[in-house]
Amino acid sequence: MIKNYLKRTIEEKWALGHFNFSEDEALRAIVKSAAEFKTPIFVGTSEGERKHIGLKQAVNLVKAFREEFGIPIFLNADHHKSFDAVKEAVDAGYDAILADFSALPFEENIKLTKQSVEYAKSKNPDIIVEGELGYVRGESKIQKEIIEIKAEDLTKPEEAGQFVKETGVDMLAPAVGNIHGIVVSSPETIDIQRIGDIKKAVGENVYLVLHGGSGLSESDFKNAIEVGISMVHINTEIRVAFTKTLRKTLEEMPEETTPYKILMPSIEAMKKVIEEKLKIFGSVNKI
Ligand SMILES: [Zn+2]
Repeated sequence: MIKNYLKRTIEEKWALGHFNFSEDEALRAIVKSAAEFKTPIFVGTSEGERKHIGLKQAVNLVKAFREEFGIPIFLNADHHKSFDAVKEAVDAGYDAILADFSALPFEENIKLTKQSVEYAKSKNPDIIVEGELGYVRGESKIQKEIIEIKAEDLTKPEEAGQFVKETGVDMLAPAVGNIHGIVVSSPETIDIQRIGDIKKAVGENVYLVLHGGSGLSESDFKNAIEVGISMVHINTEIRVAFTKTLRKTLEEMPEETTPYKILMPSIEAMKKVIEEKLKIFGSVNKI
């Protein structure tokens, strides 16, 4: 099922949106947007986000939303950085895993990613495993400091080819000039040529994921999709929409004590961001 959509992203030149959540409000905003736009969607929890909402809760909430809205919603374990964390997410029933050992030396990264792929597929043959190669700097927040991307951070196409062959991953997150978070001090420059070269090196059955989509321009996304990006991760922009709106609501309604009334405008603000992205990614009406 996921593989069919991934295949279509390349044939029809669009990308799946991947949005993170750590509570019910963000998940609701993502799912409602996807349902209205009839788009297949990925929802993800990092290790920290998953800890907040709970592993079982994440899996079962997604299941409930899937049943209610009848659309393909896939749950991804985003940036899981230890084999134990990967194992927990696989065992809990996640649909996809990002086994992120990119901080380790190349050979170590291959070894642990391969181990993750083998474990995940033995438990669930349909699970999708993503690996990460290269160094995507930054965190999912507004980055006020200057983030310098070094040449050695970037993924080398020949290493990407070797990495996917030896690990058996279904998807790869490369470092192509992207940064996690919204960068205010230095503009991000996405290396489109490099994305195209990496796509050629990994082949048609391995799909590329662009992380750190927050703050990138419409043309960055379109160019990246044109040369082989199949999925884009957005986290910071919906976090900012949530918190900015929440601050404003609390100021405007100082007497209000009903949580769902205070949170409602934040859900709408996140939806606006998500819907804007889905239109750019071209995944509308693809169900
Ligand atoms: Zn990421």
